[in-house]
Amino acid sequence: MAVPSIVGIRPEEEWNGLNAIVDGYTGTLYIQPDGEFLKEYEIRRNADIEEREELLKLRHQKDETADGHKVPIYANIGNLDDLNSVLYYEAAGIGLLRSEFQYLGRENYPSEEELFAAYKRVAQTMGEKKAVIRTVDLGADKQAKYLKIPEETNPIMGNRGIRLCLDRREMFKVQLRAIYRASVYGHLALMYPMIDSMEEMDAIEQILDEVRGELDEKKQPYQEIPKAIMIETPAAVMISEELARRVDFLSLGTNDLTQYTLAMDRQNPLLREKYNDHHPAVLKMIQMVVDAGHKNGRKVYICGEIAADTKLTHTFIRMGVDGLSVVPACILPVRRAVRNTDLTEGKD
Ligand code: PEP
Ligand code: MG
Repeated sequence: MAVPSIVGIRPEEEWNGLNAIVDGYTGTLYIQPDGEFLKEYEIRRNADIEEREELLKLRHQKDETADGHKVPIYANIGNLDDLNSVLYYEAAGIGLLRSEFQYLGRENYPSEEELFAAYKRVAQTMGEKKAVIRTVDLGADKQAKYLKIPEETNPIMGNRGIRLCLDRREMFKVQLRAIYRASVYGHLALMYPMIDSMEEMDAIEQILDEVRGELDEKKQPYQEIPKAIMIETPAAVMISEELARRVDFLSLGTNDLTQYTLAMDRQNPLLREKYNDHHPAVLKMIQMVVDAGHKNGRKVYICGEIAADTKLTHTFIRMGVDGLSVVPACILPVRRAVRNTDLTEGKD
């Protein structure tokens, strides 16, 4: 929403009624700043507003480097309200629709009709542009009471994502049917989270056959849609060549990939200073997956938060990453970083 914000602060009672500066860039909250300081921040804020206005000029610009190399920038969204900003910033499409929003914060499973209505709206709104729906990634940090997920000692390493969907086949099939039915209204793609074995892909393909069979039986129209795997475990990285052959494209979920590679919980505030999402191991893995995908003629995208890190845009493009998917508020800064990249620089 482009509103400066800070998380992980415990507000204190005595702050009530005081003035404060929220610096979302540095994650600092200044309570009762004095006059000079306030003035300095007013200057900074005005500069920020000006910069945002400058950025808005990039709304209609192409996602390509100075030397004409195309790097489409897609949007990550987690609810239907975000569709407006996807269109406003002219994203290349939706690179990650986190479909959990229809499952969380409620008392029971969403119905097929409810899911279908949402996916249809996404497909229709995006028109010619691609919208990648990630099948539901529940468990770990995404819990709801009615799901009755048994307590786990280590939920981050638990029965989450595709593992849970393969256990709860009916829940999974309801979602797949809804996505397939909505496919005729636009350009949808399916993406599976937390894959780490070929056996999971076998199981998914079998379920997809059943889903298509059920739709045929009911004479419900659908069309074949591209499939993708999220590469977000070290295991998936190591077998990414084989996985690439099973789908149409790959997308690196670097949020989970980083936490599993570093063995550090991405939500643990105690690890904030130690959590290095630029870790060379993670960057090496990204390169491995890009190479594995390209070897098999598959495009490789990044949809983890790191895709929005403009300090790495140049690196990703040099690595051969085919596109980046970021939250809507980051589309323009990333577009600027892409446009400022020149792949011919430094070459003879
Ligand atoms: C990721 O893990 O990088 C990702 C995009 O998925 P999520 O953040 O929803 O786990
Ligand atoms: Mg993930």
